[in-house]
Amino acid sequence: MKPQASVEDVQRVCEKIESLGFRAHPMPGAQRTAIGVTGNPGPIEPAEFESLPGVAEAIRVSKPYKLVSREVKSEDSLIRVGPAEGSANDGGALAGFVVGGPELAIIAGPCAVESREQALTAAESVKRAGARLFRGGAFKPRTSPYSFQGLGKEGLEILAEVRRATGLLIVTETVDPENCELVEEYADVLQVGARNMQNFSLLKRVGRSRRPVLLKRGMSATLEEFLMAAEYVLSEGNYNVILCERGVRTFADHTRNTLDLSVIPAVKRLSHLPILVDPSHGTGRRDKVIPLSRAAIAVGADGLIVEVHPQPDRALSDGYQSLHPQEFEALMAEIAAIARVIGRTTAASPRTMNDE
Ligand code: PEP
Ligand code: MN
Repeated sequence: MKPQASVEDVQRVCEKIESLGFRAHPMPGAQRTAIGVTGNPGPIEPAEFESLPGVAEAIRVSKPYKLVSREVKSEDSLIRVGPAEGSANDGGALAGFVVGGPELAIIAGPCAVESREQALTAAESVKRAGARLFRGGAFKPRTSPYSFQGLGKEGLEILAEVRRATGLLIVTETVDPENCELVEEYADVLQVGARNMQNFSLLKRVGRSRRPVLLKRGMSATLEEFLMAAEYVLSEGNYNVILCERGVRTFADHTRNTLDLSVIPAVKRLSHLPILVDPSHGTGRRDKVIPLSRAAIAVGADGLIVEVHPQPDRALSDGYQSLHPQEFEALMAEIAAIARVIGRTTAASPRTMNDE
């Protein structure tokens, strides 16, 4: 649509699309609204739309993914997390956050919620260092059925307490369509894990959710498969998807996974969705988390999701890749310095070599 198109103009185009038996996907941007069309069995005539008031142009999308593509929406998507601005939700104590804007989105916390004390201690420390969002799994997809599977509902209750006590927004994983409703009640962002990137029933379920979705790249997924997974979510009407690179499997044995940072500029070129980097699962080794975090920010990621544990050596999952709280503080200071160079911000103040 043209930047000056009215709400009625957008509405009229959507009605026209629906009257043809297709689905309309209006996606507002900072300057203008893009309207995607899906459900059409073949090409439709652009002229049908170009004559309507407020329409700037009608474009045939050449890619297999449609709604996630920059062809449909050229402007970067800003994903609002948490209560809407000015809402009375939570007594107004909780501030929302925008992923994909100038401030880097930093999500930090333990792999899994293990106890009230562990979660609250972790949350206080990552908040102090400048994180705005807290991560912690209550439902854990584990490679072994005998490994710790998470605290389930009790874990979600603990996350709700963390949210109340710290004001941090909550990112937590939903592992199947059946538990999604429960997780939605507690999460500000629904995480879909790497192992579930092609769980199509889960993708469709979170596509019908009102919560934003953090979609992790599958460990052997191509870029096209990754974007197609995101397309599942958008095609159901949830346009608030945050992508996340978390490493792919290669022959390398010096790390758990190979963090594919080259996917960041590739995604930026093809899609309007923001993308974060997970340097914890991406490397699997604590000593590599800070260096790869620096690189991720430098290469243009919209933020990080990092595992931090008050006592990594006693963690019930992923302790060997979890940062100590003071290491996370150092990470925040380092990326704050890099952010400044590339025109982005963080809630932490940069530390230079001279401060050491
Ligand atoms: C996690 O974030 O703890 C996790 C299980 O990540 P992934 O799905 O990327 O393995
Ligand atoms: Mn983990």
